[in-house]
Amino acid sequence: MLDTVCGRFAPTPSGRMHLGNALCALLAWLSARSHGGRIILRIEDLDVNRCPKPYAQLLERDLDWLGLDWDEGGSYSGAHGPYYQSECGTFYAAALKKLQRQGLLYPCFCSRAELHAADAPHLSDGRVIYSGRCRNLSPKQVRQLSRRKRPAFRLRVPEETIAFTDGCQGFYSQDLASECGDFLVCRSDGIFAYQLAVVVDDARMGVTEVVRGRDLLSSVPRQMYLCRLLGYPVPHYFHIPLLLAPDGRRLSKRDSDLNLGSIRSSLQDSRPLIGLLAFLCGLLPKPQPLTARELLPLFRWSSVRRENIRIPAQLYRVPAKGRLMIDTKGT
Ligand code: GLU
Repeated sequence: MLDTVCGRFAPTPSGRMHLGNALCALLAWLSARSHGGRIILRIEDLDVNRCPKPYAQLLERDLDWLGLDWDEGGSYSGAHGPYYQSECGTFYAAALKKLQRQGLLYPCFCSRAELHAADAPHLSDGRVIYSGRCRNLSPKQVRQLSRRKRPAFRLRVPEETIAFTDGCQGFYSQDLASECGDFLVCRSDGIFAYQLAVVVDDARMGVTEVVRGRDLLSSVPRQMYLCRLLGYPVPHYFHIPLLLAPDGRRLSKRDSDLNLGSIRSSLQDSRPLIGLLAFLCGLLPKPQPLTARELLPLFRWSSVRRENIRIPAQLYRVPAKGRLMIDTKGT
């Protein structure tokens, strides 16, 4: 039974938080806290070389500055640790074994070039549907190929449509075989795949709701399938719009001019930023400085926009050095 609400922040600290990450943290916080729920901070540093520890520490300070508190995780201890995915390998290995015992895993020796062959069907999100090349290798072929290369592991998917209702985006369905294909659960370098890790961690941490960017909406059917195979409850999902720069490009951690570091240096406190984020996502009719706590009574998922949000140019002024700064006087 999913009774008490438990939300989570699950950032990948491969750089300083940007505005879109801040919006995601704000909405995850509002959603859980508006129901008196708990929040866990989980650091998704599976690829530990891409996530230097100082970024996770800065992230905690940025969340503090935003006024978004959490109950356990990050540098706080609690009942559901470890909270850094780089320390959770034994949990993922146990889940992998469980899938293996069901006969659903197979080693895949395909190179990147083979996966991205010209005739491979591409999905709108740029992913390639796996051709099934290694699906039916004989034990002898596996032994031979293993001598030359360490394999990745894929999970067989059934011919089945998985449907669910997202709390922000509404109805969504995907045919696993034709729209997704057998997917990776462990990479050839031994790093567990995001899809597996996220499902294992949400379950072992008792997470009941997942709030994240809508770029991950198409992952849900895979994650629901994994929940079923591993005997986990399925959390409620809320996929929020992405923030786009005024020129329409997606914000990324590489755009250092839009990160919390430069935003914080241009503001005395976080209220103008919270007000701007609330306005952009549909919770306020105009940007007006306020704290996350003051926003709680105004929060409802039905007010949150579904479509990606282009930040209007007039909300930004670009000084000579090219650093973007928030100008909350504009509307
Ligand atoms: N770690 C992912 C990110 O920072 C989010 C994954 C999730 O929320 O499931 O984009």
